[in-house]
Amino acid sequence: MKTGIVYHKKYLEHEQSPTHPERKERLAYTMDQLMEEGIFEDPRIKLLEPFEASMDDVLEVHAREYVEFLRRESRKGGFIDWDTNIPVGVFEIALLSAGGAIRAAKAVLEKEVKNCFAMIRPPGHHAKPYIGAGFCYLNNMAIMVKWLKKKGIKKILILDWDAHHGDGTQEIFYDDDSVLFISTHQMPLYPGTGFPYECGSGNGEGFTINVPLPPGTSDEGYMMVVEEIIRPVAEEFQPEFIAVSAGQDNHFTDPITGLALTARGYAELMNEAVRLSEKYCKGRLVAILEGGYSVESALPYTNLGIIAAMAGMDISCIREPMNYLPELRYRKKEAALYKLKDNIEDVKKVHSKYWKCFS
Ligand SMILES: [Zn+2]
Repeated sequence: MKTGIVYHKKYLEHEQSPTHPERKERLAYTMDQLMEEGIFEDPRIKLLEPFEASMDDVLEVHAREYVEFLRRESRKGGFIDWDTNIPVGVFEIALLSAGGAIRAAKAVLEKEVKNCFAMIRPPGHHAKPYIGAGFCYLNNMAIMVKWLKKKGIKKILILDWDAHHGDGTQEIFYDDDSVLFISTHQMPLYPGTGFPYECGSGNGEGFTINVPLPPGTSDEGYMMVVEEIIRPVAEEFQPEFIAVSAGQDNHFTDPITGLALTARGYAELMNEAVRLSEKYCKGRLVAILEGGYSVESALPYTNLGIIAAMAGMDISCIREPMNYLPELRYRKKEAALYKLKDNIEDVKKVHSKYWKCFS
């Protein structure tokens, strides 16, 4: 079976300003690279057209007052916070972005494709029920996961490896034991949440796992989190579906963060998600694009790495151009690994009463 890519040229119409980090070139340059690599002619790939999310699906996550505010402001232009404007027409593009995530999940559930990458924007993981934030308007991931639950999927693992904490997604599923939310994110960094002690509430206690990463964390650090946290918890949780918030602002050239993941490390991480999906959920896996602001030096290569890993292509040749490597040597910090070990111990301590694998 094939790997799906959800994409629509309308995703390039959303623009807060030509110099805003979340700008159309994020996807425009990626599309140029994918076409140059012949990805869309590859028999292992299927391009899928998204639809707009229905109001019923959006209202599963967001308050009607907020949705009406967004729709109204989007007609004339408005404002949420200092880095999240409401440009004219964003409401329809946000619906198409959320619908792109649902389209990906639908294609996987109906076995149209084996797994799927929703290459959508605007991103979503900071959007909360009552308000958007951090370049996000509608929470694409949460809207897709609620849709999956309505379709009868009972256990969903969300891996959010964007460099920023997925505070919106965390809040939406904080008391839900059917959704295991694992976030790795740089700390300190916007939005300032995502400490290990934030671990869920009520029925959802233990089903939110936050792993803060020190600045300078590289491929080795990410693999340590996979081995120490993600693999054992996934084994114990036994998910029926895996959904990845695939932010790519953890790349070592990203201008607004300080992590040091490479394009190859990114592909390895996705490879791991694919392995977990094959082991526990018949390969059912959707990755949703979140952040990633290194528009020339990273996104064309990290997006390619994601697709290659999902489609079972050889990822050994995935790497960024050699001239970016001095930046990696500058940003990668050995000390980050030692601090990360401490953070992992903190996570295990908090979660030892919820997960046998940590007790
Ligand atoms: Zn981010």
